[in-house]
Amino acid sequence: MAHELPKLGYDYGALEPYIDAQTMEIHHTRHHQAYVNKLNVALEKHQALFDVPLRDLLKDLQSVPEDIRTAVRNHGGGHENHSLFWRLMKKGGGGQPQGPVGQAIGKQFGSFQEFQEKFNAAAKTRFGSGWAWLSVDRSGDLLVSSTANQDSPLSAGLQPILALDVWEHAYYLKYQYRRPEYIDAWWHVVNWECVEQNYQEIVG
Ligand code: MN
Repeated sequence: MAHELPKLGYDYGALEPYIDAQTMEIHHTRHHQAYVNKLNVALEKHQALFDVPLRDLLKDLQSVPEDIRTAVRNHGGGHENHSLFWRLMKKGGGGQPQGPVGQAIGKQFGSFQEFQEKFNAAAKTRFGSGWAWLSVDRSGDLLVSSTANQDSPLSAGLQPILALDVWEHAYYLKYQYRRPEYIDAWWHVVNWECVEQNYQEIVG
């Protein structure tokens, strides 16, 4: 089965005024669609891999045939990362998580504010295009990191539960060069229920 662009669980304008409708529509229908299309073109050369979960390919890129490894890393990563990113936002989101993930954040980083500062720093200082992440590491601890381009934390043995796209295509129409303003605005649309669900699926 070829990979397909997932539907959003909300309208393109749902995240206004923090993320504008035009950015959301272009981001979803052009950028994300392009990753899906290019991933499918690559997998045509090794069609058995259509049946392997994309996450499994990204977790073990060395197992991907060399002639399509870079394409899977970039376009497969793009598809996986954006699929996660859309679910992590909602209208009327934001605030602070209260359940187990909120407690784990407090335990790991000292406080929610200290976590937020660390995550913001990762997002702001990622040079060029990339992502900021909150992941669960191999020992079950939480870890803030960033990756370049469309690299997935899965490829580094991490399981991402929160993601922020800091490519210019994610914010340039509304915020131009002001990435920090976009980052501050994004916290208002974070879907903490989804983060909680992601966390509990991993730690049980
Ligand atoms: Mn993007």
